[in-house]
Amino acid sequence: MRIWAVANQKGGVGKTTSVVALGGLLAEQGKRVLVVDLDPHGSLTTWFGYDPDTIAHSVFDLFQHEGKVPEGLPAQLVTDTGCPNLSLLPASTALATLERKMVGVGGMGLIISRSLAQLWDDFDYVILDNTPSLGVLMVNALAAAQHLIIPVQTEYLAIKGLERMLHTLQMIMRSQKNQLAYTIVPTLYDRRTQASVKSLNLLRKTYSDSLWRFAIPVDTKFRDASQRGLIPSAVDANTHGVRAYSHLLDDLLKRTEKLKEPQDG
Ligand code: ADP
Ligand code: MG
Repeated sequence: MRIWAVANQKGGVGKTTSVVALGGLLAEQGKRVLVVDLDPHGSLTTWFGYDPDTIAHSVFDLFQHEGKVPEGLPAQLVTDTGCPNLSLLPASTALATLERKMVGVGGMGLIISRSLAQLWDDFDYVILDNTPSLGVLMVNALAAAQHLIIPVQTEYLAIKGLERMLHTLQMIMRSQKNQLAYTIVPTLYDRRTQASVKSLNLLRKTYSDSLWRFAIPVDTKFRDASQRGLIPSAVDANTHGVRAYSHLLDDLLKRTEKLKEPQDG
């Protein structure tokens, strides 16, 4: 099982869209994919037609057992998306209350990691969608993941925010002893605007190694897709946005395969 997390402390940068696009494309390739909504706003959950305000069972349930994960509970929470090979662990808005309840409870940072361990035989890929705020949910995601995908809007302020994000990330990883490799993915790229072009150049100068070589372009099809609850590839496999995500997926697969070798051999 491969576990990827998609995170950035900024909202509206394409995290949820990336989770759906990458998850949808992997599922189309016949991989068994689980997408996990770790954002109390529940955008990913909403995407697939569920209401995070009223949903009866969600990821929240995993956090209700004093830092332990009851046998069989994660499997009970896996929800259908209507897309073949693609399943969802939904969020509920109750997740927003977690921070207060978590204080002082041991094992709370490993809930997601332990839950996924129970699903090891059921899925080939797991993609974790994250909230912008750095708290117990993001700590869980970083502890569980083997690779981190950081979507960054091609805009000056967003790049400034990225420096902060990478700094906190290093801190968490040091405390967890989980040295995650990451890929920075420029998003919402519009080559007709100076701001986008300049930002992409700045990213390339600053983060050569960990930066994906292309960028995800602005593609209005994504906005339509999130409203209609369709995976992008089911909308139109030939839009430039979906093609870009397809390239990204190829590169991520190559990159994460390569990372695996030293441990295996
Ligand atoms: P986040 O999860 O980081 O908050 P979202 O994926 O929800 O970001 O994207 C924020 C908004 O931007 C949504 O309305 C989404 O449909 C739109 N969006 C995301 N990526 C693109 C894109 N490549 N082109 C056009 N719109 C996009
Ligand atoms: Mg989101």
